Amino acid sequence: MTTPVLLWLRQDLRLHDHPALIAAAHAGPVIPVYVLDDDAPGKWKMGGAQRWWLHHTLDSFSKSLADKESKLIMRRGDAVAVLTALMEETGAEQVHAIRHYEPWWRKAEAALGDRLCLHDGNHLARVEDVKTGSGGQFKVYSSFWKALNQMMPPGDPEPAPRTIPAPSKWPRTETLADWDLLPTKPDWSTGFGDWTPGEAQALQNAKAMAPIVEAYDVDRNMPSIEGTSRLSPHLHFGEISPRTVWHAVDGHGDATTFRKELAWRDFTDGVVLTMPDYGDTNGRPKFDKLPWRSGKEAEADLKTWQEGKTGYPIVDAGMRQLWATGWMHNRVRMITASFLVKHLLIDWREGERWFWDCLVDADYGNNSVNWQWVAGTGVDSNMFGRIMAPLTQSEKFDAGDYIREWVPELAQVTGEAIHDPDESGCRPKAYPPKIVGHREGRERALEAGRHAR
Ligand code: FAD
Repeated sequence: MTTPVLLWLRQDLRLHDHPALIAAAHAGPVIPVYVLDDDAPGKWKMGGAQRWWLHHTLDSFSKSLADKESKLIMRRGDAVAVLTALMEETGAEQVHAIRHYEPWWRKAEAALGDRLCLHDGNHLARVEDVKTGSGGQFKVYSSFWKALNQMMPPGDPEPAPRTIPAPSKWPRTETLADWDLLPTKPDWSTGFGDWTPGEAQALQNAKAMAPIVEAYDVDRNMPSIEGTSRLSPHLHFGEISPRTVWHAVDGHGDATTFRKELAWRDFTDGVVLTMPDYGDTNGRPKFDKLPWRSGKEAEADLKTWQEGKTGYPIVDAGMRQLWATGWMHNRVRMITASFLVKHLLIDWREGERWFWDCLVDADYGNNSVNWQWVAGTGVDSNMFGRIMAPLTQSEKFDAGDYIREWVPELAQVTGEAIHDPDESGCRPKAYPPKIVGHREGRERALEAGRHAR
């Protein structure tokens, strides 16, 4: 076996439980390749926060490969063209890869044709296999979960291969420094220090979830508590497989709620498999008629939301956490998204793009499906007229400490007044008044929603 094979890595930067790596290692000397392909994704080019993560995870992964006497070959360009050129250069006849569902990756996979050997590995079950009675993909999460759960538990994760056969000659590689993935002027990543991209930390986070998995059902909704796994960027970049996460909490009590959340990733990829334009297009076309606000005033409101200066403490805390750390608590993602779409009546796609640029876990399926779910425009959504009340949510989920942490102007506000300092008459001068009244925003949204009926 001297003919090398290419291992095409994308969002699967791990050594353990990697079916494509295992298959490649059986097929011949392995040349692991990562292609920075900014051509194919078009406007879905990787955002700033993801690039930061990518830099560090590639650095970590390259070291893991070096420990196995292997090497990561890094090239920039159109993935199909780069892989085709590498095959010619190295004599490789086959490319092994894990299957992905982003529309641009599906296009590239199709273009590689029978030179590509695809493996499943980034989902709990093969996305195409979780079907409705009539053979289609599910559009409603609860039914999807019922069907997926029948197929669970997933198989046991595979260990990392002990050795990875190396080719007699390595092709040229670019370096991470060539790629300028990290921000410089300005360096907005100074608050990203709590993250450690890479497989070792991903496994660590999964392990740390076990003792808190039973409390997850309640704690996951409380932004002031560290009650979730913080695995999302690790899962997005494939530093850990979902079945490893599933089994990491075995034997620690009832893990149903956690596993049910984990399964959302599988669901959202099923949605974008059947509706590849989901990031751009309303899942329910009647919402094309919705009169979103536009023009200078709406642009100014969008900026105020992005900067976390709306005068709604829970919204502002979330938006500032996002900017500072590249991540936001799930409950607060729902509240901030709903506020943009309903209270400010700004098109959900504006918020989706902002999240895409700011989130370290930005993921085409997860982001678009969740935005459309909150907006009420999606295939599996709340009704448009169901409007989240940010102040009530803040109280209900006891977000006081979370707000004090992320909105320093409010750090001294005590007790329940923290949720609505305006109403309580203790708003510090440095903190802005509400951008729009709750009732006013709600009624404007309801009126707009009537146009889509
Ligand atoms: P945990 O609660 O520990 O959950 C474990 C894992 O399950 C997560 O890491 C994630 O991979 C998956 N998961 C949990 N909830 C969801 C969900 N609702 N949808 C999809 N997967 C889920 N998640 C992303 O990974 N990328 C995104 O771009 C993204 N955009 C979002 C946009 C909006 C408007 C909303 C409301 C949610 C979005 N989410 C996104 C889902 C969710 O907020 C994050 O996955 C979660 O907050 C990550 O934190 P965690 O890893 O601690 O999650």
